[in-house]
Amino acid sequence: MSKTAETVWSNCLSFIEDNISTQAYKTWFEPIKAVKLNDNALSIQVPSKFFYEWLEEHYVKLLKVALTKELGTKAKLVYIIKMENTYGNKQPFTEKIPSSNRSQMKDQEVDVPLKNKSPELKNPFVIPGIRNVKIESQLNPNYSFDNFLEGESNRLARSAGYAVANKPGGTSFNPLLIFGGGGLGKTHLAHAIGVEIKEKYPEKTVLYISAEKFTQQYIESVKKNNRNDFIHFYQIMDVLIVDDIQLLSGKAGTQDVFFHIFNHLHQNGKQVILTSDKAPVDMIDIEQRLLSRFKWGLSAELNHPDYDTRVAIIKNKLYRDGVEMPEDIVEFLANNIKTNIRELEGAIISLIAHSSFNKREITIDLAKKIVDNYVKYTKREVSIDYIQKIVSDYFQMDVDTLQSKTRKRHIVQARQLAMFFAKKFTKASLASIGSQIGQRDHATVLHACKTVDNLSSTDKQFKKYVDDLNKKLTL
Ligand code: ADP
Ligand code: MG
Repeated sequence: MSKTAETVWSNCLSFIEDNISTQAYKTWFEPIKAVKLNDNALSIQVPSKFFYEWLEEHYVKLLKVALTKELGTKAKLVYIIKMENTYGNKQPFTEKIPSSNRSQMKDQEVDVPLKNKSPELKNPFVIPGIRNVKIESQLNPNYSFDNFLEGESNRLARSAGYAVANKPGGTSFNPLLIFGGGGLGKTHLAHAIGVEIKEKYPEKTVLYISAEKFTQQYIESVKKNNRNDFIHFYQIMDVLIVDDIQLLSGKAGTQDVFFHIFNHLHQNGKQVILTSDKAPVDMIDIEQRLLSRFKWGLSAELNHPDYDTRVAIIKNKLYRDGVEMPEDIVEFLANNIKTNIRELEGAIISLIAHSSFNKREITIDLAKKIVDNYVKYTKREVSIDYIQKIVSDYFQMDVDTLQSKTRKRHIVQARQLAMFFAKKFTKASLASIGSQIGQRDHATVLHACKTVDNLSSTDKQFKKYVDDLNKKLTL
């Protein structure tokens, strides 16, 4: 019986399947199509350049053995890299390899001799000019579930995270959005989920990335004209973790590209985990279509830890650092630093440092001093009342006028400025800002923030108001 591309490849596949994990087989071999057989050269079609690089990096020996069994020692493997167009355009386009080739629509074939032709190529699959890509998960192994202490404040987020880690892509928590104020454990929990997944499913491709870095990479890819590579890189993830997505606000291009990546992953049952310092309703300048995606899964909030959780976190940290501290000092810290676990840890660290530097015992007095410094520096949230007072004084009106229903331009502007600064300087939600500044709804506050942003970049006089008020409020 004469051999066809299909039969040869299907025999190769049975051999390969017996030799690697099911997960790896599904990920890396099922998507491959055998395209043609010419003498001893089998052409296979892979979905992306990245895919090809991954095969080359991890499965070159296996492929070689399989192919040699089928086609003998003269066997050759030809990759055809054909990417699916993810933008709804039916016409598939083809990756260029090498990049000097400008023809986009023609399939680019890469001949890879199984036998070395040139002696300097050690790996028979290596194509000159193309580097191998390895995906590092970028996970921090120090952030695990073990040391993410459970309390009332984080129970929902923690258990949802755990469920996701056990069954990535297989729960209704997709995406899982973890939100909450700074220093409450979003980054820690996001890593813990990734670390746990990697432990349970080593073959899964997991990537942790901050939204900031994601944005930089995207901008870079546009500059270098390889936006498609960028997108494909992200679309190959099994689990994508993006930290601090509020940083995408106002960045339309990055949001657009993220939207497409998100859809692709979601449609393919891949898990997306996001963190944000705001609830979706309070996110400003994030496109509606993205916001609605965030709401598809579960939004779980990290709240301020209660007293018992704070004590537990302190003790755990001391235990891990091998430090002892009197009980009354632990209680003192837990009583005085309430809203930020990062500050709590910071105070413990400087307390330990002070005492060991100066060879002093850790006393309540020392603890007081440090907490004072600590809390003074980082906490000093201005209140919405204070903001309204400062803004009204500045425009020489009283607070009632600022809150009134009038549409007089200068009063409307003052009110919008108050809303803008309330958003900027407090943790209050848009809805709560609105209700405190003249019983407005959250959409009005959102509109006010946008208007202030716009006016300050187009109107010099207005910009001066913003700068002056900013100074007064931060003094
Ligand atoms: P965020 O990303 O929300 O700003 P992080 O994840 O960076 O906060 O957390 C700040 C610090 O607090 C980290 O060192 C983290 O390990 C610690 N932390 C937060 N939550 C917990 C928790 N539940 N148990 C133990 N440590 C925690
Ligand atoms: Mg963080």
